[in-house]
Order: sequence, then structure tokens, then C-alpha cells
Amino acid sequence: MSYPYEAPVSQELFDRAAAVTPGGVNSPVRAFRAVGGTPRFMVSGTGPYLTDADGREYVDLVCSWGPMILGHAHPEVVAAVRDAVTRGTSFGTPGEGEVALAEAMVARVEPLEQVRLVSSGTEATMSAIRLARGFTGRAKVVKFAGCYHGHVDALLAAAGSGVATFGLPDTPGVTGAQTGDTIVLPYNDLDAVRAAFAAHPGQIACVITEASPGNMGVVPPRDGFNAGLKELCAADGALYVSDEVMTGFRVSAAGWYGLDGVRPDLMTFGKVMGGGFPAAAFGGRADVMALLAPAGPVYQAGTLSGNPVATAAGLAQLRLLDDAAYARLDAVSAEIQALVTEALAKEGVAHRIQTAGSMFSVFFTDEDVRDFEAAKRQAAYRFTPFFHSMLAQGVYLPPSAFESWFVSTTHDERAVERIAAALPAAARAAAEARA
Ligand code: PLP
Repeated sequence: MSYPYEAPVSQELFDRAAAVTPGGVNSPVRAFRAVGGTPRFMVSGTGPYLTDADGREYVDLVCSWGPMILGHAHPEVVAAVRDAVTRGTSFGTPGEGEVALAEAMVARVEPLEQVRLVSSGTEATMSAIRLARGFTGRAKVVKFAGCYHGHVDALLAAAGSGVATFGLPDTPGVTGAQTGDTIVLPYNDLDAVRAAFAAHPGQIACVITEASPGNMGVVPPRDGFNAGLKELCAADGALYVSDEVMTGFRVSAAGWYGLDGVRPDLMTFGKVMGGGFPAAAFGGRADVMALLAPAGPVYQAGTLSGNPVATAAGLAQLRLLDDAAYARLDAVSAEIQALVTEALAKEGVAHRIQTAGSMFSVFFTDEDVRDFEAAKRQAAYRFTPFFHSMLAQGVYLPPSAFESWFVSTTHDERAVERIAAALPAAARAAAEARA
């Protein structure tokens, strides 16, 4: 397709990047492969807006894939970072900032009795799985198709169709041995989980699930699904690991746990808790966490874990996230959802908006999307022209039909008006799209 707006400076940067970096990016989805065109190289952000290298401003509905919940360059977060930076950027020793951030997290999320800080969500889930295996003395891990937990070897396994499928590596470089103990099941299917426990009694270390999945688009758990997982795990002596890297501190002060109240044995966090810096965490039951080095024998470490600048940013952000902030996020999210529905309905475009707190995504389908297979059945070809029309009109959406949209507390009336103004043409483009 031809793109309604070119971005010559971004294109020049992308060409330079491609010469020195595979695919020109440091994380694949940034390359716009799903939608085509030139990825926008951003040079600055303020509140709900991003400015690209060509000098164009966008309303940002990606928010760095979740972390920028207070908008870009929030003055209090920036001040905390500035203050931390002037005192030194890394010590390789314990520091008060990491204690304060851990205390703030534990205070907000009741099942989080102990927490260990790491630098990425991938590290958090990788470490949680190692700990679950160490605690239970078991090897197998259950994950769900369409749930993404970072690029952990054992979790880069896709679903086969049907019921319990042993994970086949999803990418070259991951061996069958690395995914051989991974059981991939369809999401929202408790019978499949029951069958897996029946087939492998006493062998499953943990079930890991996104607390409410956002990586196949937003596909919340059916009523009772997470509670059922917890119950099946408890009955077999396995651990229930809830990945809140995306939902943690975003959908409520206590993340998805704050909405469904199902108590995980272990949890993982990232994104919001780092305030835009590389900080993540895993934690949960004190008796399980007690096995971690140096308290226990399960090894885990990190040169930059608990980094003073990252913890200062995360703490500043968490402190600003009060009830009013979450109410604001929910309200502006609902407002944008209503505008999207109005525009698409007017053009007769079949769609479904699914939500998890203020996270939401737009599926181009009539169907209630309950698992990855259903997500893949949507008319994703409609998303490409929709996306490019929005982009050309100054609204930055996630460059894939299988991602959540994110709002911030700074998405105000002016930002919403810009989205509203862009939607009619984008909806028309979606309506005119041909498979
Ligand atoms: N878990 C979930 C639910 C995620 O959404 C992500 C990233 O998007 C990760 C884990 C991996 O986090 P990171 O990209 O920080 O490694």
C-alpha cells in the first residue's frame, strides 16, 4: 500500500539503524513489520504527546507499551530522576531506593510478601520459573497460547491446535530440550488445564499466565478462570504464577490482583514500576522467596538490579498513582473506546472492543475473543489502513492488531479531541480495506 504520510528523517535514521542493528530496531514490533511503512523515530515526549524526528506531534496511545502511565516527562518523575542521577548512577551495593520501592510494592499488592528487583520483565518471569522449579523440585511448566512472558527460552513455545500440546520452539535458537518441559494450552480453557494435571500428576512446577492477557490483544480471563487455575495448582502442589508485567500498577493500585482477588503464589512485574527505566520484579509467598540466593540455594542476580535511578523513577511514579489517577485512566479509556466504536459502527465495520481496566484493544471481528485462535480469526487486514490513517492524522497506535492500547493520566480533552477528529477517516479506511 502507499502510505498517506512519509517521514523522511525517520526513514533516514531507519536506514542508518538497519546498517548497524538487525532490522533497524532493538525490539521487533518497533519495526512496523505488521503494518509496513517507516517506523517513527521519536525525539521527545511530553504528557500524552510524542514528537518524531520529522517534527510531527502525535497523541500517544502506546505509552512505551505501558510504563508511561503518568504521560511523558512527568515533572515529579523527572525531578526524582534528576535528583538521583546527581548522586551517582550505580553503586553495585544495596541502597535505600530499592528498599523504598520494594516497600511501596509490598504495601500495594497484598500477596507480595517479599520481592526481588530485576531489570526487565523477561528476567522476572525467567527467575520466577526457576524459583518455582527449585521450590517444587518439578520440571514442567504450563503456559497459555497467546500469553507472552518475554523472550525466556522455555516460554517461547507456541500452541499446537487442540488440547495439551507439548511446546514446540517458536524460534530458531531455542532447542526442543528448552521447551520440552513446557506445556502450551489454549487460554481460558480450564478443562485443558485439568487434563494436563491429570496427565502429569506431581510433575508440574507451575502454571504461568498473564493476569489478564494483553499480548494477543486484550483477552481477559473468563469469570472463575484464574480462581480455577489457583485451585488446580494448589490441589497438585504446583505454584500459580501471575504475570503482572503489563497489568501491575496499571489496571489498579494492586494490578489485576486488585480486580479479581485471586492470590498468586508468585507474581511478576515490570513496566509501570520502573517509571520508564529498566526495572522489574518478581515476588510473592515469603516461604517460596526464602529459597532465593543468598537466603537460599536458587541462584539469581543482576549487576544493575535495584538501580538507584530506576528505583527513584519507579517510586516517584507509584507515589503519584492514587485512586484519582486510576479513576482518570478508566474514564479517559472509556471515552476513547466509545469514540472508536462510534466511528467504526458508522462505517459498518465489524469490531469488538475488549478491556482489562483501562487497557483495551480493538478486534476487527463480531466474535467474543476468548483465546489466541479467536484473536487470529479477526480481519487484521483492516487494521493496517486504520493504523496508517490515524498515524497520518497524528495519533500513534500500537503498530499491530494484536496489542493493547494504553492511556495516561495526561490524556486530556485536547488529546481526546484529536483522536476523535482522526477516527472517521480511519474508520472509512478500515471499511474500504480488502483482504
Ligand atoms: N510479561 C508480559 C505480560 C509482558 O507484556 C512483557 C512485555 O511486554 C514481558 C513479560 C517481558 O517484559 P520485558 O519486555 O521488560 O522483558
